[in-house]
Amino acid sequence: MKKFCCLLLCLLCALPAVALGDAVELVVSVKPHAIHYAVYLPEYEFVYVGYDTQNDNAKEVLYSNNGAFEGICHLPGTMDESRVGINFYTLTGRLICRTTVNAAADPEVKGPAAGLSAEKAANKAQNVELLPVNGGIRYYFRLPGRDSVVLKCKSPQEWHKITLYAGPDYVYQGQVDMPCTYADDVVTVTATTGGGVEVLSESVNAYYSAPAAPAYASTSRLSGVTVCVDPGHQRTTQVETVPLMPNGEQTTTTKVGMAKGVETKRRESQLTLEIGMKLRNALMAEGASVAVTRDQQDTFVGMLERAEIPNSIDADFVLRLHCNSRSGNDQVQGIEVYCPLGSSYAQAVADRTDYKLMGETMLEAMQQFTGQERGVCTLNNTYVGNNWSLMPSFLIEMGYMTNMEEDLILSHPVYQERLVQGMVEGVVRLARLRGLIE
Ligand SMILES: [Zn+2]
Repeated sequence: MKKFCCLLLCLLCALPAVALGDAVELVVSVKPHAIHYAVYLPEYEFVYVGYDTQNDNAKEVLYSNNGAFEGICHLPGTMDESRVGINFYTLTGRLICRTTVNAAADPEVKGPAAGLSAEKAANKAQNVELLPVNGGIRYYFRLPGRDSVVLKCKSPQEWHKITLYAGPDYVYQGQVDMPCTYADDVVTVTATTGGGVEVLSESVNAYYSAPAAPAYASTSRLSGVTVCVDPGHQRTTQVETVPLMPNGEQTTTTKVGMAKGVETKRRESQLTLEIGMKLRNALMAEGASVAVTRDQQDTFVGMLERAEIPNSIDADFVLRLHCNSRSGNDQVQGIEVYCPLGSSYAQAVADRTDYKLMGETMLEAMQQFTGQERGVCTLNNTYVGNNWSLMPSFLIEMGYMTNMEEDLILSHPVYQERLVQGMVEGVVRLARLRGLIE
């Protein structure tokens, strides 16, 4: 422990070191617009850090495989020596340790550009362009006659209040870094003059771009196997009424609404898309042929289409990705796998016992890779996409977005990778079970 802290001190050339008990040492170094921190919390794999000043406020989840957490609090709006509170929490929201330090003043702050022409003061920003980029938002607008403006950028995870000064021709342009904002989350951008006049108010979705598919496979473990990955939902729901299954008269209507993160405020549709694209790439890297039902948030895929797509390519398996919610009980956690039971299509695929075995095989692989002990495999007739699939079809609820801990972890790249590797392993075991591979 002592050795480790010395190492951190050397690494960071840190100013203050705050001892917070036996198991915790927190070291910070202060720079304009940033505070570097390092903390040793050997009991934790994931922690939740939050920091705030009068002008900046953000929260993010951190991962460490050895208890050493290191990172940066970005303070784009804090130009003076404001107090910064830094708090470390468990993923259930319990405070582990905290400290406060003074931010560094920014010596580079400049006033408005020289030679502004004192045009008549505008009450509305002109030529506004807001562009989501990786890790932030780029802005451009013109505000004649206004030497400075306060720009506010707000997402569910962070907000920043930044004083901007006019450039030549009263143009304001630059980038606000928002590294704690999750992909596709709504960012509200407003600008106000010193006199309190709101001159700009717009919303954009934070940057998301699906990762490119790998050019070639690195193993052949799944060569000859075709998988359809179906990321559940889409940005906006369209209500449909469709036949529940091929045999029978019963119809079903889309249930409006999907899971939403209790803490992250994220949409289920974005999470399933993110993990779905990673799963596609991981399966392809193992040599599988993979189709996806969607690779965009704005693509609408109907309930029946989610079976027609895998049927049309004669897939061997369909993995239908979802995240769960439970109203009125924020403690429920775990992975759930749903397989079809009564449709003529399902019965042609496997009997009840074999379907149960397949679902449990997938569940076990996922539990092994994620460490999530809670989980269940259920056979039912509830899901249209399962009932109409001509191949083994699994609707996988990867975790509960109504549980704070699971909501936070589902959006973390490390846990997403564990889920993905669990599902890849599940497919390998299922392909063996079905005699598709050795
Ligand atoms: Zn869902």
